[in-house]
Parts: sequence; structure tokens; C-alpha cells
Amino acid sequence: MVMNSEGGETQDMTKRCRYGHLHPPAVVKAASKNPTRESHGKPRPYHCPECGLMSKEETVPEYWVEYADLESARQAGHPDACKTCFPQRRCP
Ligand SMILES: [Zn+2]
Ligand SMILES: [Zn+2]
Repeated sequence: MVMNSEGGETQDMTKRCRYGHLHPPAVVKAASKNPTRESHGKPRPYHCPECGLMSKEETVPEYWVEYADLESARQAGHPDACKTCFPQRRCP
């Protein structure tokens, strides 16, 4: 009788962030470019809009792009979730 909403095998279409939102319907944001960091070609993760990293790092607000869902972010080149705002909750 347990709804398996956590999924597991398939790609997660929704994620719960550390701030308690469910994404989607909450949007995610990712930097389309970053003036200060990493030019080593690593894909940038997407973040919850409330992620502390977004304001901590010296980023340019205009570079942040908002995505309606995780799939849109993935297709735009952000395959991974930020580890800070989307802590991985894999049970041992
Ligand atoms: Zn983040
Ligand atoms: Zn969130």
C-alpha cells in the first residue's frame, strides 16, 4: 500500500530540494555561463532558486536561466543537480 514516489531506477523526473520544494513544479535555475569559474568544460548543475551557492559565488544574474522542469535543464546542458541544494538521498 506504499506509493513509491521516490522512484529510483528511472531518471528522477522530480526532486525534493533541501528547502522542501518539489521540482517541478518549482523551477530550477542554471548558469548559462559563469564569469569567474571553471573553464574546464564541466557541465554546470542546475539549482533550486534558493540555493545558497547562487548568491555566494560571484555570478551574474543575467546568466542564470530558469527551467520549468528537470528535463528542460538536462536538455539545455545541465545534466546534474547541484549537490548542495539537492542532497542525494539514497538509502544505505
Ligand atoms: Zn545549488
Ligand atoms: Zn527548491
